[in-house]
Amino acid sequence: MGNHLPPGAYCARHSLQHTSARDENWHLLVWSVAMKLSISVVGTGRMGSALARALLRSGYRTTVWNRTKQKAEPLAALGATVAGSVLEVVNAAEIIIVNVSDYQATAALLHDDAVASALRGKLVVELTSGTPHGAREAAEWFAEHGASYLDGAIMATPDFIGTDAGTILISGPRQAFDANEEMFRALGGNVQHIGEEPGRSNALDSALLAVMWGALFGTLHAIAVSQAEEIDLGELARQWTALAPVVDGLVADLINRTNAGRFASDGETLSSISPHYGAFQHLLELMEARKIDRSVVDGYDAIFQRAIAAGHLHDDFAALSQFLESPDKRSLRSGPREGSLLAG
Ligand code: NAP
Repeated sequence: MGNHLPPGAYCARHSLQHTSARDENWHLLVWSVAMKLSISVVGTGRMGSALARALLRSGYRTTVWNRTKQKAEPLAALGATVAGSVLEVVNAAEIIIVNVSDYQATAALLHDDAVASALRGKLVVELTSGTPHGAREAAEWFAEHGASYLDGAIMATPDFIGTDAGTILISGPRQAFDANEEMFRALGGNVQHIGEEPGRSNALDSALLAVMWGALFGTLHAIAVSQAEEIDLGELARQWTALAPVVDGLVADLINRTNAGRFASDGETLSSISPHYGAFQHLLELMEARKIDRSVVDGYDAIFQRAIAAGHLHDDFAALSQFLESPDKRSLRSGPREGSLLAG
């Protein structure tokens, strides 16, 4: 362990050499807490509390504030200081992590003259979910008020925070990230800086969550179909386990082919639009017969139909990726391709 301690630690450790191992560990913990930065956490809901707990576990002196004070109090038992006001929590540290419900809530808390001047020279890490546009606006506001700003998207539930698998995507000035990498590692083993443009992490967040909701809403449909057909949900879960790796492969293939612009079917095509659409018709018929809500799948149908009308029935499924843009933008593209395959 000694080899991993920063230089100042060696003196502290040396003076402890005649004490018991237990005393030594205790002294090292005290030393490490004393040497670590102070961090403030604004918002201690489910996620904010997990962030604060991870910081406390790593020995950071942590000050927390929450609108509803009772929700912050369990953190005091773990060593956090509970601030009585937003100004107090901002004054307590050079790094302020914010995790509230949305950017409007952040603005309502920080866009105050006294708080804004207390933020000058500090680093704000906004881990609240938001839009790319919201992050860009926030970055401008913090720059105008003399604070550094990193915007992060947490790609995990609270139980992942502080674990090796905890993923947080951070965008904003690289230097501010690098200088505090150790603190970010305390929040998750997979915290990554993904670019300087402040909106990038929120953009990627929305993109990845679109995949997640596709899976979750798909599961709602699977449950509805299974229940209507009296299939035990345990059986559904067992069969999904077998299909899941196939779907993972299709998702990766779709992204890769779209990235390469390989929309026409070729020797590596896993499935063209045609068999997908055929099987999809069976789902639509079943849902119609069983009176299951079709609003989501009707949206899928509209995309299929636009691509098929434009002559892509036998193209790779990836060709559908060209049919999600607005009708205005689509009309700028050339019309149906020559030799339309619509008739099959
Ligand atoms: P949560 O448990 O509902 O907590 C929301 C927090 O926001 C609470 O601390 C709440 O304070 C505070 N808040 C809301 N409006 C406020 C206002 N006007 N002024 C001051 N404080 C306000 O939600 P959460 O799950 O922790 O989520 C927090 C953020 O993390 C969200 O942006 C969410 O999208 C993001 N996130 C969550 C997860 C997850 O799995 N939970 C995953 C990724 C990202 P009170 O306690 O006083 O209500």
